[in-house]
Amino acid sequence: MKLRFLLFYLCAILACVPGWAQTRRTQTVAHRGEWRSEGSAQNSRTSLQRALDLGIFGSEIDVWLTTDGHIMVNHDATFKGVSMQDTTFAACKRVRLDNGERMPELKDLLKILKRSKSATRLIVEVKPHRDPQRSRDCATAAVKAIRKRGLEQRVMYISFSIEACETIHAIAPEAEVAYLCGNRTDHTIEELHRMGLTGIDYHISQFKEHPEWVEEAHRLGMNVNVWTVDNPDDMRAMQALGVDYITTNEPAMCDSIICRP
Ligand code: MG
Repeated sequence: MKLRFLLFYLCAILACVPGWAQTRRTQTVAHRGEWRSEGSAQNSRTSLQRALDLGIFGSEIDVWLTTDGHIMVNHDATFKGVSMQDTTFAACKRVRLDNGERMPELKDLLKILKRSKSATRLIVEVKPHRDPQRSRDCATAAVKAIRKRGLEQRVMYISFSIEACETIHAIAPEAEVAYLCGNRTDHTIEELHRMGLTGIDYHISQFKEHPEWVEEAHRLGMNVNVWTVDNPDDMRAMQALGVDYITTNEPAMCDSIICRP
């Protein structure tokens, strides 16, 4: 166990040495944007703007479809008493985030992305709705909104809903889509690959238990994202394992740890 830990460290150090750089570089994704700094909040306009300003690989958001077809950005199924999938746009937009901003729609954040010259990509998580058809509808609406603004190349998709992942792949075959998984694997990596998905996005505990999954996904040409990694030792260990993206609530720290070129 101790030897394994030392090997992780050795790989991380070698990855920083010119000439030893990994062909697949680990990059940082801000979980719900850069929200821990003063004046920011999860899934807010500010958190996206601050992630864009950091110039990291990506900034993640969560999206729900309201009963009247608007795509709202928020993590929780119920936020400040409002059940995201059971309510209207009017009710959602009355909700204030912890930094005082009104809850954004996806299109508000797409406007910020479009305006920005940052290379940071938007990682859109389609939340799993109670009715799988609503997850499909949310996925479809998100793809349309992104396509309408010509932002296809600057967006990637993730979802715990396999229906949402399949829908995105069906209507946007060029899109990068990763399946999210917490503590179980209801689909093998090979199955996900056969469905046309381009990545896996698993909780760190899964890669600690199954480090071989990183190589398996890479062999199939898929990307590997790990969540949610806020501890520096875990960041180094995941980089040493060769994951492509580390999703973290500490994006600035993570980016400095994993050796930007
Ligand atoms: Mg999320």
